[in-house]
Amino acid sequence: MFCYENNFVKPLSDDMKVPFNKISVTGSEISNIEKAIESGHLQGDGKFLRSAESKLRGLLGNDTALVTNSCTSALETAAFLCDIKPGDEVVVPTYTFVTSISSFVLRGAKPVFCDINEETLNMDEKALEGLVGPRTKVIVPVHYAGVSCDMDYISNFAGKRGIKVVEDAAQGFMASYKGVPLGTLGDFGAISFHGTKNVICGEGGAIVMKDRSFFDRANFIREKGTNRIHFVEGKIDKYTWVDYGSSYIPSELCAAFLDAQLDFAVGLTEARVAAWKYYFDRLSPLEKEGRIKLPKVPKNCSHNAHIFFIIASSEGEKEALSNHLKRLGVATASHYSPLHLSPMAKSLGCPGSPLPVAERVAKTMLRLPIFSSITSEELDYVCDGIFKFYSK
Ligand SMILES: *Cc1c(COP(=O)(O)O)cnc(C)c1O
Repeated sequence: MFCYENNFVKPLSDDMKVPFNKISVTGSEISNIEKAIESGHLQGDGKFLRSAESKLRGLLGNDTALVTNSCTSALETAAFLCDIKPGDEVVVPTYTFVTSISSFVLRGAKPVFCDINEETLNMDEKALEGLVGPRTKVIVPVHYAGVSCDMDYISNFAGKRGIKVVEDAAQGFMASYKGVPLGTLGDFGAISFHGTKNVICGEGGAIVMKDRSFFDRANFIREKGTNRIHFVEGKIDKYTWVDYGSSYIPSELCAAFLDAQLDFAVGLTEARVAAWKYYFDRLSPLEKEGRIKLPKVPKNCSHNAHIFFIIASSEGEKEALSNHLKRLGVATASHYSPLHLSPMAKSLGCPGSPLPVAERVAKTMLRLPIFSSITSEELDYVCDGIFKFYSK
């Protein structure tokens, strides 16, 4: 494998055999950061930001991508660009990260939570019909684990009703739907380069637009609501306050790291996909015996192996398996406690009616270690541990 383990990641503890995640340093991250320091320009909008952005645009086949300091900032930008007003409704899966919806709530939106599909853990698009109404402004498909939502259905459904689609493609970088990169399918798309994602820079993200006419506004929003972009382009002598905005531009240090990672985006993804397939093949017999369920990837989707999960038959079994693996030194993780049951959803007056699939999956799914530099020995060690558990 081309990526090497860096010296900064120490084993979590002596008895930790397989950590849940490890970052990969692909080559020139550190020398890029040194160059950034030597340049004396550490704030936003430096050479590495421009270079990373042009690489990202090439990988996405979309020339509007703007790197931000997080996917959350990208989602907040999308909420501005969708012109969210108090009382507008935004439909989002309950099984997702907080900022898929909090970014819209900041602008006054009311969340409408959707259950998920049992197989992909993505938004159950067939439930949309019962959830939209005259106040629905946006639907937020979240591509869980880097497996695309049914974007044809969702885009059609939203298009017919004048509803905007904002893809939360935080986990979807380098994955595609019918050959089109995730993050470029909706009206707006948000990608994450957070330290736990596939391609990283610590904290970082990107906003992508389908319609280039939003490009200037997105730049204004990223630069504190100023038209600094026009100043940089030499169109004006002095920049001024022209729009809503915040501080969403990344530091040159993060851009320098990202610029190096993007050169290896394909390789980092391929290595993860190989690990994912290895788990899938080795654990398939347990699925055939009806002991566990494995992830399903619909035909039209090429995924990026962001997550590998198994679904146990009960909460007790999941807990026991997780503890068994922990004793063997294997770190695992569960996922999202459904947002419709959160204290914030209650305080916003969301009905909190049952969304049974998400509630069940939150209790029974277990994520296994996966990262680009995971070795076949580590994968075997995890799988052997799982087989031992189920042989009892
Ligand atoms: C990671 C993640 C986010 C947030 O990304 P940041 O870059 O940390 O802001 C949002 N949505 C989903 C689904 C995520 O997995």
